Amino acid sequence: MRKPTPKPRLKGGLVLCTTCKRYKPPQDFHKARESAHSLAYRCKICNYKRQRKYIRKLGMNGETRRLRQYRLTQSDYNAMLQEQGGVCALCQRLPSTYFNVDHCHKTGIVRALLCVACNHGIGLLQDNPERLRKAAAYIEQHAANPRVFRCSITPSQRPDESGA
Ligand SMILES: [Zn+2]
Ligand SMILES: [Zn+2]
Repeated sequence: MRKPTPKPRLKGGLVLCTTCKRYKPPQDFHKARESAHSLAYRCKICNYKRQRKYIRKLGMNGETRRLRQYRLTQSDYNAMLQEQGGVCALCQRLPSTYFNVDHCHKTGIVRALLCVACNHGIGLLQDNPERLRKAAAYIEQHAANPRVFRCSITPSQRPDESGA
């Protein structure tokens, strides 16, 4: 029994790509167990284009290449990103470039996706909660009670850090 397909999958030793609708040699397709003829439905070029489009859409370019390093699948990554609302788990901002997969350096367990600044920031303070708390207190203390010993720039030239 033949299935009523508009175009046959195979024609003269060539395979149909369901995306670009062109017949191409089998080596232009990745192997896929789940599809008929053990070949992917999309040709390699279409598959690559689709992946790039998908990656760009989710804004995760460079990071996806490193997912394997953390034994994360793309769907793990997507789930994490969705759970975080698509922003850095720490500063809640959208990174300008890509997310870093933050992990515990002792256990190797992945914690969350962080922007580069947040990930480097906590890393430079050795992921040490005590030190990070002290750093936060330090910033607040000095903001509330500035003690200017020496300053090469006059207050009027100083960048406005308060945002007020
Ligand atoms: Zn194609
Ligand atoms: Zn951040």
